[in-house]
Amino acid sequence: MKISKLNKNTVLKGGIILDPINNIEKKGDLYIKDGKINSLFKIDPPKEANVIDCKGLIITHGFMDMHVHFREPGREDKETLNSGSMAALKGGFTRVCVMPNTQPPLDSPESMRYIIDRSEECPIHIHPIGSISKGQEGKELTEMGEMIAEGAVAFSDDGLPVENSRIMRRALEYSNMFGVPIINHAEDLCLKDDGVMHEGVVSTQLGLKSSPGITESNMIHRDLELADLTQSRLHVPHVSSSRSVEHINVMKNKNNNITAEVSPHHLFFTDEDLTGFDTNLKVAPPIRSNSDRKALIKGVKDGTINCIATDHAPHTSEEKEKTFDLAPFGMIGLESCFGVVNKVLVKENKIKLNKLIQLLTCNPRKNLGFDYDLFKIGTQAEITVLDPNVKWTFTKHDIFSKSKNSPFVGKEMNGKIIFTIVKGYLSEIK
Ligand SMILES: [Zn+2]
Ligand SMILES: [Zn+2]
Repeated sequence: MKISKLNKNTVLKGGIILDPINNIEKKGDLYIKDGKINSLFKIDPPKEANVIDCKGLIITHGFMDMHVHFREPGREDKETLNSGSMAALKGGFTRVCVMPNTQPPLDSPESMRYIIDRSEECPIHIHPIGSISKGQEGKELTEMGEMIAEGAVAFSDDGLPVENSRIMRRALEYSNMFGVPIINHAEDLCLKDDGVMHEGVVSTQLGLKSSPGITESNMIHRDLELADLTQSRLHVPHVSSSRSVEHINVMKNKNNNITAEVSPHHLFFTDEDLTGFDTNLKVAPPIRSNSDRKALIKGVKDGTINCIATDHAPHTSEEKEKTFDLAPFGMIGLESCFGVVNKVLVKENKIKLNKLIQLLTCNPRKNLGFDYDLFKIGTQAEITVLDPNVKWTFTKHDIFSKSKNSPFVGKEMNGKIIFTIVKGYLSEIK
């Protein structure tokens, strides 16, 4: 990847400008002056401008991932904010939100400030998600107001669920006073027990311990009820089962404060892919049956699920080389995201490219109350340029994360990121 300072006058020439807000997908040029959007379509740049040929390429908003794990502080051997930023840029992401299950957890105003300060040195925008409970122990709520003042954009104990319903209710009420969503990792730990995969025919064949889909949907149902009771903002992460989609769909029609995300791996793989015992496919919640996968795709189509998030979760190869029972949960996902979701949703399931781009750009920004009209004149340029039609094979060389735990290595992708512009830098992806 080549990162260089953006020329004072930069023209993206002859591409297809895809504006996900206004549903525009039209051939044209974009002129960036002093790092800001100056004009689109009819542009009048000076002669000395740096012109980048975008023929055949889509010019759109920078992607945002509202769910990644960058392991800083504490496990910098797996990922840092800097290495995670490179993985993000490779995937077309100009903005991410980092989960707080670091060592120690991000559960104080000072820890929020730490991420904000560190992110200033990084080539993308990074926002911290604060812990719901102190030490992520599920007992005592964190100082949410002060954490928001230092930069927290949401709250989650991700990695772990909030098991206590009373604590979950208080968390929803408290964070809602500030208009900030709660993101609960929904897994009933009693039902999950020591399950390492989805319960079904395949788990029986493989002889692996498993947990059923209701391990997730039970808790999502509770969270939806609590969000409705308290009229609070709930964001449901990494939805994996068909019943969860049903529950969210019902409650979404009553309460427009509910939003939900799906991860590329739950859209791409099924439990049958686990027959090779690849520990990179061990994730929480687990990869489920093909009917669950189809329900997720339908949930995207009808708007029940409104954004894509990778749940990028780096682990060392030593940890992932353990047996399936012992390896940690999680896979990386930033670098492979677009090639996967474009293939599954647009090419195979006929979802419009414009809609997919919404799931990667304006929708996650809306979910967190961020500015999302990135083509507005005068906005700091935050742009992703991609080729939606190129087929390619994902290899280890495409991984910029410090960790290599991707089950997508060797898989065929469809669609590729060509370059991004963010924070005054041009990053050319190789
Ligand atoms: Zn989670
Ligand atoms: Zn996560």
